[in-house]
Amino acid sequence: MKIYNIAIDGPSGAGKSTAARSLAAKLGIAYLDTGALYRAVGLKAMRCGWEENDAEAEKNLKNTDIRVEYENGKQIVYLDGENVSEAIRRDEVSSWGSRFSALPSVRAALLGLQRKISGEYSSVLDGRDIGTCVLPFAKYKFFLTASVDKRAFRRYNELRSKGTEVQYDKVRADIEARDYRDMNREVSPLRKADDAIEINSDNLDAEEVVNKMLSYISE
Ligand code: C5P
Repeated sequence: MKIYNIAIDGPSGAGKSTAARSLAAKLGIAYLDTGALYRAVGLKAMRCGWEENDAEAEKNLKNTDIRVEYENGKQIVYLDGENVSEAIRRDEVSSWGSRFSALPSVRAALLGLQRKISGEYSSVLDGRDIGTCVLPFAKYKFFLTASVDKRAFRRYNELRSKGTEVQYDKVRADIEARDYRDMNREVSPLRKADDAIEINSDNLDAEEVVNKMLSYISE
């Protein structure tokens, strides 16, 4: 069967990764969480104290190896040979990933990797610029949104369920700061592709979101 891709973009906490993972499983295709790649860069920058400027990041990235492998269908991210799939989920890494993702050299370095993987396997990719920049010719494109409060509340519950002590107001402020950075950066900012189908998940659970996507796909 011909290789095809599905792009799911949207702001933090809209439910993209849950929807993308479930959609990929239902369709029997791969899932690439592209945010994990930016988080891997953020983790390295945090650990090594990288300066937040494009020329420095470009230099540092030459000595950085980010790879993705699939083990039992699960995406594993390797940073310089270390499995960092858990470490990149830590709350402090979110902000490092978001800040470094605004640098053109970081985006350029990760673009090739995303295109390589999506060219090898039929896959669902979730991120911020998949439909507009990484895969402008993706077969299906979705833009998943939700209000800031809904998104902050979901993220707050997720962190609490993992045992992380957090304040709701801080989670909400972090989400707003990430939205602002994602939407206002110069290179491939977050925006809906003209041909993407917008789904608001405020009043939908994860299964309803995926069913909506599947109904567009089967059309
Ligand atoms: O999706 P997730 O929150 O894990 O992504 C981490 C950060 O990476 C986001 O805050 C966003 O700034 C950035 N990102 C991006 N483009 C993508 C995916 C993620 O800029 N395609």
